[in-house]
Amino acid sequence: MGRLAYVNGRYMPHAHAQVHIEDRGYQFADGVYEVVPVVDGVLIDENPHLDRLGYSLAELKIAWPVARPVLRLILRELMARNRLRRGIIYFQVTRGVAPRDHKFPAQAKSSLVITTKRLKPPAPSLFSEGVAVSIQPDIRWARRDIKSLSLLPNVLAKQAAVQAGAYEAWLVEEVSGIVTEGSSTNAWIVTHSGEIATYPRGHDILGGITRETLLDLAEAQGLAVVERAFTRDEALAATEAFLTSSSAFIVPVTRIDGQVIGSGKPGPVTERLRELYLAHVARQVALGQIGANATAARP
Ligand code: PMP
Repeated sequence: MGRLAYVNGRYMPHAHAQVHIEDRGYQFADGVYEVVPVVDGVLIDENPHLDRLGYSLAELKIAWPVARPVLRLILRELMARNRLRRGIIYFQVTRGVAPRDHKFPAQAKSSLVITTKRLKPPAPSLFSEGVAVSIQPDIRWARRDIKSLSLLPNVLAKQAAVQAGAYEAWLVEEVSGIVTEGSSTNAWIVTHSGEIATYPRGHDILGGITRETLLDLAEAQGLAVVERAFTRDEALAATEAFLTSSSAFIVPVTRIDGQVIGSGKPGPVTERLRELYLAHVARQVALGQIGANATAARP
């Protein structure tokens, strides 16, 4: 049987799953989403992702479509039906279906759509060689901390980066030259003094879950992580650079706008952070599997 999608209470063949043409997600991008990585059948950092979903919904005054524990069950059910072992689970919540009108509808039930995608482990060259990024202007709105469906500026930046032969776009504020983040990743550099820097959390960037986890892991190791803005010029002069996201975890960046960063190879700090992060994932997989076995063994 083919892949299934969950749409408002029903499990439907992915290829035929549909939403109403007056869903406000379709008409206004009036909704939010989450992407949770799945490794060996275990959801990684599920709770922080659900916390962030709750935050995005609250900021936009959209109701939870189902209670959080119910959502957790549906995620597992779809993963089981699709036999998802490794990949991502995507879920989006919109303000629901209503006649098209900008103001919030008086009565609408939040829509919930969930899909899964199998992913092969990334090509080893991603980590042995690193990737190129292209600098693009950050033309987004002022609430980038909300994981909104409205991704048009991100789409345009990513497309421009791909056309420039790069893997990702790093978004730069035009006047200050500050790098905020990537089109779908957070941006990091390692400076000559050994500082590991990433843009501070706030309204200007999406608080990436991988970013948060990595900050905690690095701090626990006594590494010199600091949340501060850095410019394009600083990034070009960095000894190392890397990006983080739930789908690729930690990827070294070895070229920015065609210029080689540091030695041109993934550096030791990036390697160490990647190992720390992979160990964190492995711990969750081990714990998740113990939990799943315990559930399966229950009469
Ligand atoms: N920034 C943006 C703009 C993103 O879209 C994403 C991925 N959704 C990230 C950063 C990385 O966030 P996470 O680590 O939660 O995947």
